[in-house]
Amino acid sequence: MVSMAELDWVTYQKTVSKGKAIIFLPIGALEQHGPHMSMNPDVLIPTAISEAVARRLNNAMVAPPIAYGYKSQQQSGGGNHMSGTTSLDGETLMYTVRDIIKELARHGSRKIVMMNGHYENSMFIVEGIDLAIRELRWDGITDMNVMILSYWDFVEDPTIELLYPDGFTGWDLEHGGVLETSLMLHLYPHLVDINKIVDHPPAKFPPYDMFPVNPELTPPSGTLSSAKNASKEKGEILMKVCVEGISLSVKNVFEVDYLKSVTKKNSLTIPIYVPPKNQRKEVEL
Ligand code: ZN
Ligand code: MN
Repeated sequence: MVSMAELDWVTYQKTVSKGKAIIFLPIGALEQHGPHMSMNPDVLIPTAISEAVARRLNNAMVAPPIAYGYKSQQQSGGGNHMSGTTSLDGETLMYTVRDIIKELARHGSRKIVMMNGHYENSMFIVEGIDLAIRELRWDGITDMNVMILSYWDFVEDPTIELLYPDGFTGWDLEHGGVLETSLMLHLYPHLVDINKIVDHPPAKFPPYDMFPVNPELTPPSGTLSSAKNASKEKGEILMKVCVEGISLSVKNVFEVDYLKSVTKKNSLTIPIYVPPKNQRKEVEL
């Protein structure tokens, strides 16, 4: 694995100038995650996953993460009224994403993976990607390919059943819960104090949001479900599942002849991936 920021520019230029290197950009948030954990799991977890995935690829590097994210929402992150949570306006994030992609493209990169660690970022990253690809086209660059993913989407049902034997309340209520706390216990144990975990039932919200938010709907701890059942072992399993699933997807997209199929043919070609057997079919439109 190569850290982009730690390279000298001459070596960096040689690596990226032909557009073949895959660059990972982790995107997180500075957000309270309960009294038992530091405020940066949304940055540290996708960065660690990016590094582990990059190590499994032939030609990949990890760019410094975006350490701030879009405003915490009450039903997925406790809310932006919480102390410590330090957020960007949507357009700041969107333009940051756009600017970084355009700069990487200027250096020669054509394969970028946006590794999201904070749910609320998703659509602002999408918009930043879309603006970048559109503006690059105006500059005559038509072969930029950007992948976006959120790591928890790679945790599938069998793992969920194994890790949540008492039932799973959904990723939105996992803020500061078993998923993030277990991963942090595995990756950065010194940033978690399990003695400070507040055990409470999952947060209950109405099927709508109100602005300004009613702070009383957020559990006083700031977590949306209890991290009581978190463990280092669960973190290790989660890390393994995410790294394997993401590596397979990135390889499918960027190391198979996917790019040839979309750039060389004039017809639109959609590659379809069948993950279990890693087979690939194509549909001509
Ligand atoms: Zn989080
Ligand atoms: Mn978050």
